[in-house]
Amino acid sequence: MAEDERVTCSLCGFQFQISEARATVCQKCPLKGGCQLLIKCPNCGYEMPLVKTPNWLGKLLSQIGSWISKGKGES
Ligand SMILES: [Zn+2]
Repeated sequence: MAEDERVTCSLCGFQFQISEARATVCQKCPLKGGCQLLIKCPNCGYEMPLVKTPNWLGKLLSQIGSWISKGKGES
């Protein structure tokens, strides 16, 4: 389940679930968290943009990176 992915607070290092963070973020926002642009740490209350890299994208990026470094190495 992608919704239960864990994220680490960049301020205090507390680990929490994204679904858990969404329940508390954007309370004043008219979208009521529907924008899903921010997550809020339940421990310290720090709000941060939700930047997560899905596994498939991470693999793709590392593959592209290896292609680039291969190309540079051969020429
Ligand atoms: Zn925190």
